[in-house]
Amino acid sequence: MHRYQLSYDMQAHPGGLTKEEAERDLPERGLTDAMVVFSLIYPPDGSLSMASFTLDGRTGEALEVTEIWKVWSALAAMLAESRTLPNGHRELAGLVIEVVRAAVQGRPMPDPDDARRIALGVWVDQAKRNVVLEGLVTDLVDSDPCHLDHHGYCQAHGWMKIEPACPHSRAKQMGIQGG
Ligand SMILES: [Zn+2]
Repeated sequence: MHRYQLSYDMQAHPGGLTKEEAERDLPERGLTDAMVVFSLIYPPDGSLSMASFTLDGRTGEALEVTEIWKVWSALAAMLAESRTLPNGHRELAGLVIEVVRAAVQGRPMPDPDDARRIALGVWVDQAKRNVVLEGLVTDLVDSDPCHLDHHGYCQAHGWMKIEPACPHSRAKQMGIQGG
């Protein structure tokens, strides 16, 4: 059973609120005019479920796509300046923001060969990482089969859950046999 770690809500105020009214009536709440929300859910199998929604408090409708575009370019700029994002990804975010600025300010575009090199770098980084991870999983996976008890738990590997299944069987479903 998934246990959610956060809850949230949002309240629309047609006609608006002043800061003073909000401090008096809603002292605990943040104030804004529009929101772009990305909701991330981390199921126990290690996957990621992401959903997003937007709301423009001025209209009560979804936010105009041009406003989302501003958020997107702000995110790209933030990622380009990140100190912890892997190099290739940071460079790619920097390229995105460089293209956006060149387009908006009518400056020359970055060299397409540079763009290709950067994009390929990210892909190669990811591919290398996958090779390392596959090697790790191969070393970790037990070649002995799972042994499920009447609850559906794997007694062979001490896995006391049905969902997700024993990681040894999940690895084998991906064609990793183990040593
Ligand atoms: Zn097992």
